[in-house]
Amino acid sequence: MRLRFAPSPTGALHIGGARTALYNFLLARASGGALILRIEDTDRERSSAENIEQILDALRWLEIDYDEGPFLQSAREQRHRQALAALLESGRAYRCLATAADVKAFKERHGAQRGFRGRDDGEGAIRLRVPEQGETVVHDLIRGDTVFAHAHLDDPVIARADGSVLYNFAVAIDDLDDRVSHVVRGEDHLSNTPKQLLVIEAARELGLGGEDGPPAYAHLPLLHGPDGRKLSKRHGAASVQELRTEGLLPEAVCNYLALLGWGAGDDQTVLSREQLIARFTLERVSRNPARFDAAKLRWLNGIYIRALPAAELAARLQAFIATEQPEHAQALARHPQLLHRAAAISQEKIQTLAEFWPLAGFLFERREIDAQAAARHLDRAGRELLMRAYEALRTCEPFDERQIELALAAIIARERVKPGALYQPIRVAIAGRAVSPGIFESLAALGREQALERMKDALQTSAQQLALDG
Ligand code: GLU
Repeated sequence: MRLRFAPSPTGALHIGGARTALYNFLLARASGGALILRIEDTDRERSSAENIEQILDALRWLEIDYDEGPFLQSAREQRHRQALAALLESGRAYRCLATAADVKAFKERHGAQRGFRGRDDGEGAIRLRVPEQGETVVHDLIRGDTVFAHAHLDDPVIARADGSVLYNFAVAIDDLDDRVSHVVRGEDHLSNTPKQLLVIEAARELGLGGEDGPPAYAHLPLLHGPDGRKLSKRHGAASVQELRTEGLLPEAVCNYLALLGWGAGDDQTVLSREQLIARFTLERVSRNPARFDAAKLRWLNGIYIRALPAAELAARLQAFIATEQPEHAQALARHPQLLHRAAAISQEKIQTLAEFWPLAGFLFERREIDAQAAARHLDRAGRELLMRAYEALRTCEPFDERQIELALAAIIARERVKPGALYQPIRVAIAGRAVSPGIFESLAALGREQALERMKDALQTSAQQLALDG
């Protein structure tokens, strides 16, 4: 199979585009064929070098690599003009001055169903002449046949008056030139396909290529949000970069994207890249819209996070903080030996890399105590227990998880309190808030000196606060 991913660089790479890229990639790898990356930048106003870089960067992050390209469509201008000239010469295309208003008037005269036919004015934009008779059938590998009667198709505009070509023409010629065997893309392109097939047919008749026939087509189902409406910004992250900023792992994102409109057939959810390559088929792609569910993606990401060796998680966190949370990079750099341990004790509690710092950042930098958490857990009873803990931890030897657990258990037994009544005041004192990794692990990782200092300060400040409040 020869496949291509052909994004228009008019913005960031969106989730739908990433899924299209992934499916093409999986098919190329499974078939031992080739994936071509073609940047469709013929719309010069809306394309930019920055957008191209963003798309390449997103593909790199997802580890979707390609065998040929990236090719810029704009670099093929010569070839496009030459093919266009051949079509004009042969009468398969013509120049026409018709405006949108003329097309509308035509439809009013002949009925909306009637395909627009223009007059050959010898000047103006270039339209492809759709044959009067017959039909073009799109044999879609997912959706089956769709028949487009020629009588209903407008003669499509394929180039501007200045000879610069438009999408439906450029893409058809490029698919021929790249010897693409399978076009796999979003369903929104289904209505473009007959136009492209007609261009390919005309090009073949003129000896411009396509001897092996047109590519096969497969149109992927639309993406919806959980509310059943077309996926958009409203449903949360829309671009690959946003997913990255949220702290998702690229392998989890690829796994999730693969399942958007495709199923392994046995309800298996966690699939490695190798499994996806081995099992993905177009036949099992659904025709129905797929639902993008950000909560499910985060859940899946949590599974991937827990499966990483702690050293690997630490490395990912380091890279993530450097690029996405640079405001914490310094604090992290001051305690490099702590990261591995912090990662290990947070692993069960985070679903994304972004959740690490809010949970465990207190190990690296002291932060202010949250007022609500203090009011709730550092009341008179809480401070009483915090004082007991302070005394016990001062002499706890060695200061490790096991001994800390025993020391605290003794207090719980002696004071006849629930564990949480003791743990929460300690947690608020050392972490500044009511959530942290396990309390014994947190204390041990922080070390005796820091732990005691923070507990002492918390006792003093909360005592003052209580006095002030009367
Ligand atoms: N450049 C088109 C787009 O980004 C896709 C072209 C295609 O896959 O045929 O929507």
